[in-house]
Amino acid sequence: MISFKDVSKHYPNGTTAVDRLSLELPEGGITVLVGTSGCGKTTTLRMVNRMVEPTSGTVSVGGRDVLRADAAELRRGIGYVIQQAGLFPHRTILDNIATVPLLLGWGRRKARARAAELLELVGLPADSGKRYPHQLSGGQQQRVGVARALAADPPVLLMDEPFGAVDPVVRTQLQNELLRLQSELRKTVVFVTHDIDEAVRLGDRIAIFRTGGHLVQCAPPAELLASPADDFVAGFLGAERGLKLLSLSTLADVDREPVPADGQRWRLVTSERGEPVGWRDTEGPEGDRAPLLPVRPLRDGDSLLTALDESLASPAGLVARVDADGVLTGVTGREAIHEYAGQRHAEAGRAAALKNAAAGTDEAPGTAEASEAAEAPEAAEDPKSPDTSVTA
Ligand code: ADP
Repeated sequence: MISFKDVSKHYPNGTTAVDRLSLELPEGGITVLVGTSGCGKTTTLRMVNRMVEPTSGTVSVGGRDVLRADAAELRRGIGYVIQQAGLFPHRTILDNIATVPLLLGWGRRKARARAAELLELVGLPADSGKRYPHQLSGGQQQRVGVARALAADPPVLLMDEPFGAVDPVVRTQLQNELLRLQSELRKTVVFVTHDIDEAVRLGDRIAIFRTGGHLVQCAPPAELLASPADDFVAGFLGAERGLKLLSLSTLADVDREPVPADGQRWRLVTSERGEPVGWRDTEGPEGDRAPLLPVRPLRDGDSLLTALDESLASPAGLVARVDADGVLTGVTGREAIHEYAGQRHAEAGRAAALKNAAAGTDEAPGTAEASEAAEAPEAAEDPKSPDTSVTA
């Protein structure tokens, strides 16, 4: 869908922002570009909608070289979301969202109706449409930014640190919201962040960049975590790779075990409806009157990292599992979680090794000739200003 072929970007001051990048971004997935500040992520992103033009190499969207497309038309097919949303301060929320449909000549009524629909889609109340951006919270403004980018239903969405400026709680909500939207809309999303946890949560694939605009590794998060290509990637992923890998699986992946029977030390006490209410130590001095120790029942959709945490907190070493109504369905022990984690690690490692082996056998010959190519005009470079966020 989006492809970079041997793409470099050199600035006249001698900076190489992107260095011989070759990358294919599959349709309908979220690819996260991650790396420390200044490693070329934003430049890469902005070459997709031609806000930055490559010095050499080819960027294509849907098989078409972006340099051959009409820039305005290209951008109308590409939603763009930036940090702090970049909304027009003097336009209402509805008018902000309707910007691109209006540019496309939809007519006021149809554009407004579409904007109202999107407001609901991103989880904002209908009456917020009449307000102005400064009357919304940062997180709400960010939702409006997403709605605006989606207004003309573009197949591609570029997101540049969109959730960078909101607090961690709102950020998690926005991430969940994006995943929910994406499961419905299946856009081809390019998402820039410097936060590896965000990358692991959101990415179908993660591309890790190093200073100087080098792509170091691009792989699904599980593969990256199980088998980082080098020390740089390992360092960037951080010390807790095993735990991050657990965060990618859910409790549904691990079998249920029967609830401990009477006669065992720890009894899981339930309400009349069958909801777990606490653990009782039947061998303590108080016997059956022993106070209940807390239980945090989990559902199939909870992450295995949460499950591991609960298994460590649980006096019995067991996670109490419940159905959608909160009724106890079984337990899962620490050992089962460990065992699954080990298998998952091995599988992801194997997949990465197979891929590396395949890449090793048909490694492309030198790519140096691309750097000889002529300088592209610098005309399309825009500063990070709100107005460039609109596809006008
Ligand atoms: P990131 O998004 O990873 O933080 P950028 O893509 O914004 O990195 O920048 C990559 C490098 O290119 C940085 O060293 C940055 O200073 C440089 N750079 C970006 N834009 C320009 C420009 N217009 N002129 C000169 N250097 C630039």
